[in-house]
Amino acid sequence: MDLSRRGFIKLTGAGLAVSSMGALGFGSAGTALAASVRPFKLTAATETRNTCTYCSVACGILIYSQGDRAKNVKSSVIHIEGDPDHPVNRGTLCPKGAGLLDIVRAPGRLTVPKYRAAGATEWKEVSWDFALDRIATLMKQDRDANFIAKNGAGTTVNRWNTTGMLAASAASNEAAYVTFKWARALGMVTFDNQARV
Ligand code: SF4
Repeated sequence: MDLSRRGFIKLTGAGLAVSSMGALGFGSAGTALAASVRPFKLTAATETRNTCTYCSVACGILIYSQGDRAKNVKSSVIHIEGDPDHPVNRGTLCPKGAGLLDIVRAPGRLTVPKYRAAGATEWKEVSWDFALDRIATLMKQDRDANFIAKNGAGTTVNRWNTTGMLAASAASNEAAYVTFKWARALGMVTFDNQARV
């Protein structure tokens, strides 16, 4: 039987109530009680671990989205709470973290890449292919023009000081490691994210 932590608590709680009532001679009442237990609202939700996006404390969070990721079903985030198994926050969140659902639902939240051409006053929606090609092209141009292979003393330094990278704290440890290696391999010195992970 595949039983989540929450499901286990619910099941054992109901079982305890039923057995207690049975011991007191209220067997049928206990059965009725068990039948009346409503499914927990997150029972059918998909649970995703992540990191709070706000500050360098980097609290662990659990994001619950509706649906079972079936094809053609658009899942939506319905609840976010502290991750009790996370070593940093042990399930707690400050008021900002506790309000993370507001970020997800904010009408002004950026969900697609946007581009404002030089001299233009308006941002326009572009595809991810366009955005990534544009970023790659500009990075290459800047690196070719400003890469420093050796310092004044002739020591090899391989530095690229003119472009920096702000990565996301909401990445797994492994993703953060690979991202860091990639940035350093390019010679990039300025690299950070708000959670310092
Ligand atoms: S929950 Fe609060 S303390 Fe924790 S990372 Fe988010 S903003 Fe920082």
